[in-house]
Amino acid sequence: MVFFNLFKLRVAICLSLFLLVALPLSTPSFARPNLNQNTSFLVLAEANPNTASKAFGAFNEGDYLKAIILYQLAIKEDPDNEVLVKNLSFSFGSYAREALSKDELSLAKENFEEALALNDEDVFKKGLAISMAGLGDLKEAAEVLEVIEDDAEALSLLASLYTRLSSELKLSGDTDLALEYYEKARATNIPLDKSFNKGVAKLRREQKAEAGFDKAEGSHFTVKFEGGENAEVGYIISLLLEEAYFFVGASIGYYPSASRQNNAKIGAVLYSKEQFRSVNRSAKWSGALYDGRIKIPIGGITEKTKLLENLIVHEYTHAVVHRISKGQAPVWLNEGLAQYLEGLRTKDKKAELAVQIDGKKISLRNLEGSFQRLSRGEAELAYALSLSATEYIINEFGLFSVRSILERLGKGQSLERAVSGSIYISYDNFEESWLASLR
Ligand SMILES: [Zn+2]
Repeated sequence: MVFFNLFKLRVAICLSLFLLVALPLSTPSFARPNLNQNTSFLVLAEANPNTASKAFGAFNEGDYLKAIILYQLAIKEDPDNEVLVKNLSFSFGSYAREALSKDELSLAKENFEEALALNDEDVFKKGLAISMAGLGDLKEAAEVLEVIEDDAEALSLLASLYTRLSSELKLSGDTDLALEYYEKARATNIPLDKSFNKGVAKLRREQKAEAGFDKAEGSHFTVKFEGGENAEVGYIISLLLEEAYFFVGASIGYYPSASRQNNAKIGAVLYSKEQFRSVNRSAKWSGALYDGRIKIPIGGITEKTKLLENLIVHEYTHAVVHRISKGQAPVWLNEGLAQYLEGLRTKDKKAELAVQIDGKKISLRNLEGSFQRLSRGEAELAYALSLSATEYIINEFGLFSVRSILERLGKGQSLERAVSGSIYISYDNFEESWLASLR
């Protein structure tokens, strides 16, 4: 009968874990197990009437920490009682699950590990994996789940971990390993996101183009290039990237660190003009670009020039903006800051810009998404407006306000909130005063 009760308890934990999987950050409702106390007490009473029944009561009241302590005491008094050990494992498991629901991930991880050490239950493994994933240890979390057999929930968790690993590795420039995890995700047979599949098709094109490329490891960058005569260009660009790291860092007070395991060096890759077009399929007017890695078409580059230096600062700024804002920056601010830091200013073109926007309804909201589909002429105007709007913020409120907007976006704030929280006027009012300054 006790095992029957344990089974019920297990169902309850399964259920709550299932809720956690669906909504990892929400607090799951936990159906307290409705155990038949009389029969359990009977069995436990044989072993150790007072401590064990108190432990059982504590568990039923949801005081799992107390249950853990009492079960440990009971086991000390009756070391051979397997039921007590199982009950202790479920007390650890429930305590861990409670910590998980409060987002106390380290505490959850520790207690799921304790539970597993006593009782090799899949439900504990799933909880442990969720805690580890929350702590950023995706690879370890996947390894925990990989040993679970025939469990749909574990499989869908695994698929999401593999896709996250693949995306992170893609961002850090490890194309081969990113594709390996993509294949693992596909092997789970869980349907994958369409845009993710598209991203992988691009990764494959990159992998094909970059087969046999050489790699130069700098302090903060990994630069890939086709060997032979390009080695010198690779070297020049590595140096320029390191310079950009310190220049952009000093300008906005941010130096990405390469110390985090899954967030390694920033990747850069140098393509021939043809490779660049066929791999990226970007707009005809686009030169270099940043899409998680800095990609540069190197046709014609033979030496360090001011133009090349500016281009590197521009693309590296995108990498920094991406990191600070966690990819949430509006394109006008991203392109505006990149142009500003490469040294461009609106002042010489102000009259021209005023003519261009005369009679037009200009809205920054139209410039928040990608410029890739714009024609060359439209793109030129979009870039000029981006620079002008960003410059307006910098001149009126300081460069640190731009960083503050990016940081707030990175913390999940809306653009409206991030702007008003950083420059103390609303997005609409800012747009109005900026446009007034142009006309
Ligand atoms: Zn750009």
